[in-house]
Amino acid sequence: MATPDCHSPSRRLVLASVSGFCQGVEHALQLFDEALRRHGAPIHLLHELVHNRHVTEEMARRGAVFVSDLDEVPDGSVLLLGAHGVSRRIEEEAGRRRLRAVLNATCPFVARLHRLAASLRPDEDLVLYGQPGHPEAIGIIGHAGTERCHIISGPEDAARLGPLHRPMLLIQTTMSHESAERVVAAMRGTYPDLRCVTDVCHASRQRQAALEQLCREAAAIVVIGSPHSANANRLVEVARAHGRRAWLVENADSLPPDVWRETSLGLIGGASVPPDLLLRVRDALLAGGFATDGNPPD
Ligand code: SF4
Repeated sequence: MATPDCHSPSRRLVLASVSGFCQGVEHALQLFDEALRRHGAPIHLLHELVHNRHVTEEMARRGAVFVSDLDEVPDGSVLLLGAHGVSRRIEEEAGRRRLRAVLNATCPFVARLHRLAASLRPDEDLVLYGQPGHPEAIGIIGHAGTERCHIISGPEDAARLGPLHRPMLLIQTTMSHESAERVVAAMRGTYPDLRCVTDVCHASRQRQAALEQLCREAAAIVVIGSPHSANANRLVEVARAHGRRAWLVENADSLPPDVWRETSLGLIGGASVPPDLLLRVRDALLAGGFATDGNPPD
């Protein structure tokens, strides 16, 4: 971490009203705790339970074993599937394996997208506004009742899809709410018979709304989260779209030197950021000369 100038004029730190772990992540971590209590270590996980390096390292320390393929899970193991969900093929394959237990931490918001995708008939088109290659997007497509699946990354992609039959638009839970509205409008303009049945999840909307409030109060924003966290990256994009300087930081040690030149700074954690990590970054900023309205530094 760059050495801050503690003698600069007073600098204001504004904390987001909603920050850090969402309910889906808390539920997934509770399932991991229960699995450890009931079965003991090791607990095998297909990929990360949530996209946060600190959480993953702490879980590994407690007995989690992360694998990238079901074949790497030995017979008799306990398997926990992560909050982002997996394809139906993986769920079925896990059920066929001789495992002691298979626990599924798929967030209910994601599970709803799985059910909607599964409801499509083979001659109907599924359009997913999402991030290609993200586990959630792969899982949703992997539940579709049709092979006519398209992933779009923005409103401009809507015009490139060509003719679609009874299209259904689903939205990955962690996209930006504002950009999702633009995608829906563009898709409706092109496909009058569009069935659009989802929005970003409640937790993503809450954090994006809290971030918009922060943007009204601070000139620059620090978002805490890992580089591969979709929801944390969306928060950075939303802040920049509101004309704010914004940085994604993993922890207090990765605060960039430019942060210490700001006079008003907003702080928010993505949905997979644990409370103790939030506090450590906040305390580093307070120790470096920032002050919150209710909690000035010594
Ligand atoms: S960000 Fe939304 S979809 Fe993802 S785990 Fe949290 S509540 Fe569930």
